[in-house]
Amino acid sequence: RQLVIAVDGPSGSGKSTISRRVAQAIDARYLDTGAMYRAVTYAVLRDNVDLGDAVKIAAVAEGVELTIGTDPATPHISVDGIGVDREIRGAEVTSAVSAVSAVPAVRRLLVDRQRAIIAESERIVVEGRDIGTVVAPDADLKVYLTADAEERARRRSSENAASQAATAADLARRDRLDSTRAADPLRQADDAVVLDTTELGIDEVVERLRQMLDK
Ligand code: C5P
Repeated sequence: RQLVIAVDGPSGSGKSTISRRVAQAIDARYLDTGAMYRAVTYAVLRDNVDLGDAVKIAAVAEGVELTIGTDPATPHISVDGIGVDREIRGAEVTSAVSAVSAVPAVRRLLVDRQRAIIAESERIVVEGRDIGTVVAPDADLKVYLTADAEERARRRSSENAASQAATAADLARRDRLDSTRAADPLRQADDAVVLDTTELGIDEVVERLRQMLDK
């Protein structure tokens, strides 16, 4: 029987680390849907497309060749055959990704792609914003991770060169954009288990999720 685990939540909630760790622990595949939105954003910026031009953004998304690896030990994504793992974490992509992911045609395309990857996986942990609500509403386990805004900014700024204040401002801006758009991908699924990771360590969260899966 197939096993699908949906992990949603805002950035800095611990989603990526926790999702990868759980996938490794249960010998499952791992899909980072945020990386897919980031990779399309990379292509949009590469092609100098105006971020207000939804038609052109959709055309880039349709024309681009995305290859995404699903091994939790070695996440990898490439755009038109070129690895962009570093580039998609940069400030340029990060500040443009909310605009690109708000384009409905981009979401439709990537959601279809995500469902296809899930369908061909026996066990998979999928992380994002709309996994439990839109991409995989029938997931076996849905987790919604949260953390205090301050703690999320602290975690994110320790991962990159930006100051904590700048990171906090950028996170707040993205949270707002991500949750006020029509599709509202930051909505929680009614049947999601909500875990606040502000105080809980990564190990503790991973352990709790493993226990839930054992039941
Ligand atoms: O998780 P991560 O911070 O890499 O996501 C980057 C951006 O991609 C989010 O800010 C959001 O705009 C978008 N995203 C989305 N739906 C997903 C995953 C990410 O809209 N399932």
